[in-house]
Amino acid sequence: MKPNFARLDQKFVWHPFTQMKDWLQQEPIVLASGRGAVLKDVQGRAYLDANSSIWTNLHGHNHPHLNRALRQQLKRVAHTSALGFANPPASLLAAQLALLTRSGKAVGPELVRSFFSDDGSTALEVALKLAYEFTRRTRGARPAPRFLSLEGAYHGDTIGAVSLGHSPLFHRSFSGLLFKSDSVMAPYCYRCPFNRASPERADARTYRSCHWECVGQMEAKLETARRQKRPYSAFAFEPRIQGAAGMIPQPEGWLARTSALAREHGALLIADEVMTGFGRTGGNTLFAALEEGVRPDLLCLAKGLAGGYLPLAVTLTSPTIFDAFLGEYAEFKTFFHGHSFTANPLAAATALASLELLTPREARWERKRLERQLASELTHLWSLPSVGDIRQVGLVVGVELVRDWTTREPFALAERAGIRVCEAMAKRGVLTRPIGNVVVLMPPYCTTPSQLTRIVRSLHDAVVETLGSPRLSN
Ligand SMILES: *Cc1c(COP(=O)(O)O)cnc(C)c1O
Repeated sequence: MKPNFARLDQKFVWHPFTQMKDWLQQEPIVLASGRGAVLKDVQGRAYLDANSSIWTNLHGHNHPHLNRALRQQLKRVAHTSALGFANPPASLLAAQLALLTRSGKAVGPELVRSFFSDDGSTALEVALKLAYEFTRRTRGARPAPRFLSLEGAYHGDTIGAVSLGHSPLFHRSFSGLLFKSDSVMAPYCYRCPFNRASPERADARTYRSCHWECVGQMEAKLETARRQKRPYSAFAFEPRIQGAAGMIPQPEGWLARTSALAREHGALLIADEVMTGFGRTGGNTLFAALEEGVRPDLLCLAKGLAGGYLPLAVTLTSPTIFDAFLGEYAEFKTFFHGHSFTANPLAAATALASLELLTPREARWERKRLERQLASELTHLWSLPSVGDIRQVGLVVGVELVRDWTTREPFALAERAGIRVCEAMAKRGVLTRPIGNVVVLMPPYCTTPSQLTRIVRSLHDAVVETLGSPRLSN
């Protein structure tokens, strides 16, 4: 007899970001296999993976090319240590990443060094420690390094990454454990206090009243730090779109302006591309910051790095930062940081195979096609009274649910509007997870046109079932 996996889970497992009281009240979906954009549970029911298994999967599940690379590496060795030894796939991968981040137009240093770690949080920890130590060494021990990040920022769950975060719901309870970082206004145009353009029609958004007030606030913050003679060590940001903050896109030009300001004021740039990396946000390069013409000093990658197969992360750094850690052994300038599974060969081999699938021109066209179809399907959702905003950057979508679209009044979080809609989607065979009142769609690149239609239709029907019927179009 097969074990009852759902029962075992409910008895022995504690799930991340989950109110376990709710979890224990209904039988969990136990996923057992997958192929392409489809996942199957232990009872054989099929689901579309509409959020790429929490933003990790790029090419679909059980991909023959990735499977082959993984099996070939497995025949050689599963793991050897990067503490004291090199390994072939990690060396190749680091060389590839240096090449891929060398987009001609972007302003900033070359990113020639890869420091490997395990997940997005550790990639940010590494960036933080490097930026901290770099500025301490180049500016002297005092004044104490400071960091700037965006309102609503989420950069991971380890203590350093949480310190950079500004998500009250996630981070409040740990405040006593954290070092202080400053937040600056993020360009959340839908709820911008300065955006008074046509508030009565959310879907006819224009930003005519925009005078880049958010950039102004950033400049003021940097100026204050300069006057206090306590400049920032680094400005950390997600380029083009903030993910866990609620899928909040930045208007074109915002990143170039804020990055230039930060650099003028002596701050390093830490780009957190844990979600946006590897073509997720569309465009011609694989990285969102490069797409906006910005090459950061530290670039953090994780989630999709190994195609969503295995945990692997990297922090890419400039030669200037790398050089600050060079010295005689006895100077102890070594970067004292590392993890047991750093540069794991199975993950690195899979990442190399994933890059082979990502880079051909046809693959870029295919992503573009998916992006265009997604945009056209999403227009159907504007007729729903509980849909306040639809935000799309490349293949990343956030649909913000509101109690009243004319006033943009949000649902109280306790009403679990996003959770209820996603549960209704799961009943229709489509899996995703909300961020508060924002339903996320992030299909894997292999999603077919008919699968994409089903994903958006299931969201439409789930909103109608959960929150009410469509309004008459006007
Ligand atoms: C998911 C995420 C992280 C954290 O990555 P983990 O692998 O979950 O530790 C950090 N930054 C961003 C932008 C993310 O989306």
